[in-house]
Amino acid sequence: MLFFKRYNYIILTTFLFFTLASIGLFYLQYTNQYQYKIVEIKSAFNSKINYLNSLNVAKLHVQGLKIAAETYLKTHQQSIQSDLFFQMQQVANEYHLNDIKSPYSKEITANITGTGSLQNRTLDFYRELEMTFELNSLFQMAVHNVPNITWVYYISGNHFIGLYPWTSSNKVKFTDDFLSYELYSLGSPQRNPQKQLYWTDAYIDAGGKGLMVSCASPIYENDKFLGIVGIDFTLDELNKTISDFYQNSQLIITNTSRQLLAHSSLVNSKSKDILRLEQAFPESLLDKLDIIYQSPEHEFIELDNYLIMHGTLSFAPWSLFVIIPKQVIVYDVVEHIGWGFFILLPSLLVIFIITHYLIRYDFVYPSRCLIEHLEHENQGLSIKTPSVPNSWKPWFETVSHIFSENRRLVKELKQNLLFLEEKVKERTHDIELKNQSLLLLNQEKNEFLGIVAHDLKNPLSGIRGLAEIMIEEADTLSSTEIAEYGQMMYGESKRMFTLIANLLDVSSIESGKIKICLEKINLTLVLNKLISSYQKRAQEKEITLLTAFDANVDVFIYSDALLTEQILDNLLSNAIKYSPLQKTVTVHLHTTKSNICCEFEDQGLGISEADQLKLFGKFSRLSTKPTAGEHSTGLGLFIVKKLVTVLGGEVYCRSRLGEGSTFGVQFVAVF
Ligand code: ADP
Repeated sequence: MLFFKRYNYIILTTFLFFTLASIGLFYLQYTNQYQYKIVEIKSAFNSKINYLNSLNVAKLHVQGLKIAAETYLKTHQQSIQSDLFFQMQQVANEYHLNDIKSPYSKEITANITGTGSLQNRTLDFYRELEMTFELNSLFQMAVHNVPNITWVYYISGNHFIGLYPWTSSNKVKFTDDFLSYELYSLGSPQRNPQKQLYWTDAYIDAGGKGLMVSCASPIYENDKFLGIVGIDFTLDELNKTISDFYQNSQLIITNTSRQLLAHSSLVNSKSKDILRLEQAFPESLLDKLDIIYQSPEHEFIELDNYLIMHGTLSFAPWSLFVIIPKQVIVYDVVEHIGWGFFILLPSLLVIFIITHYLIRYDFVYPSRCLIEHLEHENQGLSIKTPSVPNSWKPWFETVSHIFSENRRLVKELKQNLLFLEEKVKERTHDIELKNQSLLLLNQEKNEFLGIVAHDLKNPLSGIRGLAEIMIEEADTLSSTEIAEYGQMMYGESKRMFTLIANLLDVSSIESGKIKICLEKINLTLVLNKLISSYQKRAQEKEITLLTAFDANVDVFIYSDALLTEQILDNLLSNAIKYSPLQKTVTVHLHTTKSNICCEFEDQGLGISEADQLKLFGKFSRLSTKPTAGEHSTGLGLFIVKKLVTVLGGEVYCRSRLGEGSTFGVQFVAVF
């Protein structure tokens, strides 16, 4: 799973690096463009200031008029009444120059209107009138040069005005109010002791030309204030000048009275109201006007997400402000960088994410599933193939197949191992049994050797003793004694023979070398012969031998003749051997449907139940002893049992201690 962690880590790192690099690149581009934009706006702002400063021409013309007027008065001390003076007309208490005659015309002449009489005035009055006529050419020049000029005029303290361009007195004429206008009073010695050129605040034109400002200068003769020359122009020109600026920005021209002289949208010369600077500024900036004013000129300051810059105009006490919402520049910069960048970045991110998911779906996820599948299969958990692309499915199936085959083989191996273990256990058990039987056999062999050595030693030493006597006393022994010794030696050797014969029988039985020849045998005949052969022995012990069967009825069995005789001989010899003197031994013959049983019943001491269990064992000489010093090997019944078993019959014993015993053998009958 470490691999998948690493994969995710690499993807995440690449993604983050890619994103950060893109953001960094964008940020670099953005700051550059932003700075560039600021410089561009600054430069445009300065251009505007320079352009506005070209309105300085108004000031120059006013200065020109002042110089011309004062120079005229200085150089014309005498009254010269010109043609124009004679064209003036007196109507009641007013006079005007409505009717202009050639060579003068309205185009080149200012209308002079005034109150009072044209007659009987002072010399200075007439000189002043002539001076006004003299200014006509300068008036023309001013109108020609100053853009958006409305009026150029001379207002005299002698209650008249020379107003150019010519306008009928029916429309505009001098009234005494003119002398109380701010325009005029600003030139008075009281308010303008330095006799300087001045600018008025914005005001609404009495002649109906709308919102305007005036540039004026007082006219003095010596130290006597005569009147003012001035130029009026509407604010339209200012508005025109500032109209074309950076998008969504506000360009404002204001004067020291914080009147709004020009504004991209708010100020219109036709409007009837004079707006204040505060009305143009965003509300959030109003309490920061002082900060703005005190900030360095021609430098942007940033306040409340606005970029603000101001600069003072050189020809008038006016300032130019620019207010731009910051987001406008940001938006512009971003637009300049190009939306492509924004489209490109998400597109690349989308491609990146799609590629990542495709790789994940097509490779990473299936390989992860495959590893999990392998782990599950390895743990022996059988799971379904997960939903992976089709091309991966054979891998899962192959893995499952290999593991299931492996499990099957392991199971088989385990079973085989168990089987082998069982076999080994069995064999080990067999070997143990065989070992035990070998041990028993060895024990038997040792016992056997002991018994044989003992049993053979006694008769052999008897024979040797008798032989010694016969050798030593050969001269003195009578023939009767020799016969007696011979008889004794015969007896001893017979004992030895019997023992060896029994041993040979046992050996041939145990080695399986015994040969059987099954045939139909007349059991009655065999028993009759056997009983007669034991009559002598029985008589020696005064034992009565009875036959409890019809000796004349032949009973046939299917058996081996020699072995049958040996079996019956053994049982009868035992019955006599273990019967005390003067007892009876009875031979029975029972016939059942399929078998014939031959039983030998004696009246001996009987056999205890414990001894009965050992009866048919090898060398089992039990507590019952022969009653007349007969020889006992402990092999007779063992041989009987083996032979009966070989013949397919059965041998049994019924006995109670002190009540005699009955030994029987069951043969396969022939009917
Ligand atoms: P042997 O007679 O040579 O000792 P057997 O195998 O014939 O060996 O008998 C084994 C033992 O069984 C005898 O030693 C004896 O104690 C007991 N036995 C056999 N037959 C009789 C019998 N008819 N009555 C009592 N005891 C018997």
